[in-house]
Amino acid sequence: MYTIEDLSLALSQYLPYEQVAKVKRAYYYAAQAHDGQKRKSGEPYVTHPLAVAEILSELRMDCDGLTAALLHDVIEDTGISRDALTEQFGESVALLVDGVSKLTHLDFNNQLEKQAHNFQKMAMAMADDIRVILVKLADRLHNMRTLDAMPANKKRRIARETLDIYAPIANRLGMYNVRVDLESLAFQAYYPMRASMLQKAIHKKYGQQRIKDTQKLEDMIRSELAADYIEASISVREKHIYSIYQKMDKKRRSLDEIMDVMGVRIVTDRHDSCYRILGVIHSIFKPIEGRFKDYIAVPKSNGYQSLHTTVLGTNGIPMEVQIRTEEMDLVANNGIAAHWAYKANGNAGGSSSNHDRATKWVKSLLEIQQKAHNPLEFVDNVKSDLFPDEVYVFTPNGQIIELPSGSTPVDFAYGVHTEIGNTCISCRINRRLAPLSTVLESGQTVEIITAKNAQPNVAWLSFAITGKARANIRHYLKDKQRENAISIGHRLLTRSLNAFKANIDDLTPEQVSLVLGNHQLTAMDDLLESIGKGRHVGYLVARELFPNFDEETLVTPKSFKVNGSEGMLISYAKCCSPIPGDPIVGYVQVDKGIIIHHLSCPNVQDHLSSPERFIRMSWGKEIEEELNISLIVTYINERGAVAQIASSISDSDFQVSNLDIIERGRVSRLRLNITISSRVGLADVMRRIKAVRCVEKVSRETIVGR
Ligand code: MN
Repeated sequence: MYTIEDLSLALSQYLPYEQVAKVKRAYYYAAQAHDGQKRKSGEPYVTHPLAVAEILSELRMDCDGLTAALLHDVIEDTGISRDALTEQFGESVALLVDGVSKLTHLDFNNQLEKQAHNFQKMAMAMADDIRVILVKLADRLHNMRTLDAMPANKKRRIARETLDIYAPIANRLGMYNVRVDLESLAFQAYYPMRASMLQKAIHKKYGQQRIKDTQKLEDMIRSELAADYIEASISVREKHIYSIYQKMDKKRRSLDEIMDVMGVRIVTDRHDSCYRILGVIHSIFKPIEGRFKDYIAVPKSNGYQSLHTTVLGTNGIPMEVQIRTEEMDLVANNGIAAHWAYKANGNAGGSSSNHDRATKWVKSLLEIQQKAHNPLEFVDNVKSDLFPDEVYVFTPNGQIIELPSGSTPVDFAYGVHTEIGNTCISCRINRRLAPLSTVLESGQTVEIITAKNAQPNVAWLSFAITGKARANIRHYLKDKQRENAISIGHRLLTRSLNAFKANIDDLTPEQVSLVLGNHQLTAMDDLLESIGKGRHVGYLVARELFPNFDEETLVTPKSFKVNGSEGMLISYAKCCSPIPGDPIVGYVQVDKGIIIHHLSCPNVQDHLSSPERFIRMSWGKEIEEELNISLIVTYINERGAVAQIASSISDSDFQVSNLDIIERGRVSRLRLNITISSRVGLADVMRRIKAVRCVEKVSRETIVGR
């Protein structure tokens, strides 16, 4: 059994005597505090914090971290106060223990909302001191190792949570060993059948061969490297079972189709040796194309550095070869925890950049948290950061920006700077103009074009994937939307009040507080926002204000003029796509604002049951908006007909956004969606199309019969 003496001995390898003594003192303190308590397995409780400290000692955790590990359940389970710990072990240990205790009750298996809330709390605790999460991860790892003592349903719950939350966090912090342990244990606990069947299949397929081949393979590589005077240690291993399972599950592949079930790791002393070893490997084994990755030149976001290549090994079995230096290996296995290992060795360089990276990530969580409007949004924003699979692109002056794969120029823009994201209008990828929705690939150079008064666009949310971009866009849009809603609400209420021969500014404070009270609102702006968003109806509010007004004498309000600059809360109905000049009517829809329909649109009839939601509308003089309309063109189907129709308007200012053939025959019909800015323009476009020889008829599409 592992004892405190074993721990002290291990610690004395890297900690000074007084610090080892402090850790020991914490152990006896914890043993006393937990006296009489037992683990589910029947062992004395203190074996648990001791095991957690052991795990952390392997990561070379510092004195305070280890002390906190030994005391981590003391506040929670024994009623000893934080103040008592401060007195005994100092402020920073007490803070750590308190941080870990706060995470104890977080349960990530409940409904989404609460789960999100808990995740938010965890991010905050991490931000206070990143050692909190390291102690928590070690705590979870030991609990996973001793999971068998738990009842079945609890076992599954803990396993699921480990796969969903803790393993990804370990991965994000670059702690490969901890992550693999957590995943393997959780996989076996959550899917016991699948785990044992997969394990058997792997052994059947590779087991026999492996024993024979491994030695052969190692010898082969060793002698080739020796011939080149390169020193390195070589290890051949099976990939961990959960990563094989994930590949099969995600890509729907059979075990036969999974590449590199076997892995070879070569660790050497010097940087340049890595590339020499790569050359040697490629000369012995045939490399598989497209599988080489240079994470030395461009490290992963969690600090991981290594060369990766997949080659066909003996007997044609693909194997992944990882080549790296000892320092890279330490970071690869322990991630952020390597920071303390280096500090303990009196080595300042190297992994501190890894620590900075992790700190930066946690800081970015905080920023996302401040911008998020609720926990669910926060978790959604963070998700892509937790499951990274990066691409690396360059700024025009050669700076590398790392982004999760699937990122677009909008993500890139926000990655460079929030302000650049907020004002970006277009971009160049490798010097060519490209849509902002383009998915970026590693190695591309991206240049963002900004404009002073540009604003984030709601459509970006459909393709931006990084937490930072999404949080900023949403934040901006929410503010903007409120502003728009207040201004529209003001106009709507003014119209309604005018009908009652009244005005907003003339309302008495009593009237205002009465109507606010009726709807449980606190400020006039909130009421206006709510009217602008269609949650309240201007007419009904006006009637509440003037309950005794004689309805017979209501004045018909002036029409509401659209000028195109109202923003997102005024939109054009897709069913009838009205354009300037058309007779129109507005319908106020809850949470959508005003939707403008063509007066003769049949959908308007459907809404007649709520007449108070209709608004008389007209077009303002300078309508700025571009409008989409669709035309139906009937034409004689002859060679090149479609091309002629398309080119008839291609030299004009109108944009064709879509063209589809809806009926094919000798007489065919197609639908043409165009973007247009005025009715005059529309007449011109229709005239041009009509002038094409094969065209029989051009008309605005109506929704009747569609
Ligand atoms: Mn614990």
